[in-house]
Amino acid sequence: MDQTLLMLPGPTNVSNRVLQAISKNVVNHRSAIFGEILTETSQLMSDLFKTNDQSYLLTGSGTAAMEASIANILNPNDKVLNVISGKFGERMRDITNSFGGKSVELNIEWGNSVKPEDIEEELEKDENIKFVTVVHNETSTGVAAPIKEIGNVLKNYNALYVVDTVSSLGGDHVDVDKYGIDICFTGSQKCLAAPPGMAAITVSDDGWKVIDDVDSSTYYLDLKKYRKYGAGTPPETPYTPSVTLVYGLWEALKIIFEEGLDTRIRRHERASKATREAIKAIGLKLFPEEEVSSTTVTAINMPDGVSDSELRGTMRNEYKVELAGGQDHLKGNVFRIGHMGNITYKELVITFSALEMTLKKLGFDIDLGVGVAEVNRTFI
Ligand SMILES: *Cc1c(COP(=O)(O)O)cnc(C)c1O
Repeated sequence: MDQTLLMLPGPTNVSNRVLQAISKNVVNHRSAIFGEILTETSQLMSDLFKTNDQSYLLTGSGTAAMEASIANILNPNDKVLNVISGKFGERMRDITNSFGGKSVELNIEWGNSVKPEDIEEELEKDENIKFVTVVHNETSTGVAAPIKEIGNVLKNYNALYVVDTVSSLGGDHVDVDKYGIDICFTGSQKCLAAPPGMAAITVSDDGWKVIDDVDSSTYYLDLKKYRKYGAGTPPETPYTPSVTLVYGLWEALKIIFEEGLDTRIRRHERASKATREAIKAIGLKLFPEEEVSSTTVTAINMPDGVSDSELRGTMRNEYKVELAGGQDHLKGNVFRIGHMGNITYKELVITFSALEMTLKKLGFDIDLGVGVAEVNRTFI
């Protein structure tokens, strides 16, 4: 068994309870017993999204839900405002274009956050924008977007509001109905701490009206079919789902509500605070400004004179702690610490102990223990 500690923005460490859940035997996915599991898991997903609308489970990674969120409401040549402040915003644009949409890009420098006024300005300029895509937590840069305030702006426009909460749901505040989000989705392997392979999506009444008007060009992810089969007796998915991963997701959701969502979000907030304080104490620099920092992942500038392979390689090989690298032009320039899912002070103490030893080995002049002390101070 690999005991490497995953300090990643997904996949995250999976608890023994969830591992036991996925080891149960498969059942018929078109049976009353599985229908019940599907109903309960979807209900817990809706509770987590904080919506009265039905949530649907998709077998696929978070990107399947990204694709579903766009492909179902897009006709060729529709105009879409894609907010792009990192890798995942770019992916939403790429999906928009690949389904024949006309992407209007709102580009934000990587490391910064979009402002609600920026979106308002774009919507004032062009009344034909059909929907707006926002990534709540831009995992590539460690920046959170103000999705509540953006929601307040969008209430004044007809455009639908599509939000990617793949790396925030269960670790930061998401309130789908209150924020006026029309389509919201997440993946199983980030803050939910389930294995990779499942995604969930929820759609508002306004969202369904648009979906019913679109001749969807995606087959596997056609949400009309998920709605139809989901309303059956027993409730089903249109195609065979990953039965075992649904068991895992169900268990992971039960654990989330046992902890309590507010408690869980506070734990994430503390973990991100501890991480930032420890990084500063060690003498490294945070990539984004602290005011816009994510609660679930922290991006850190690579210290001068150290390569990504030295830093993350030593962490992995000598100390069995897996950190994430930078993506695209940030590759080699930043590294990222994921503190989402089940992370507590224990994992952070190990991580900073290992990071300090790594930097010392690589020739940095640091006082061992200064980062760990900040973790202790934050959690005491
Ligand atoms: C991880 C992630 C996704 C989806 O990625 P998959 O690898 O397909 O699960 C989408 N959006 C964000 C913000 C993410 O962090």
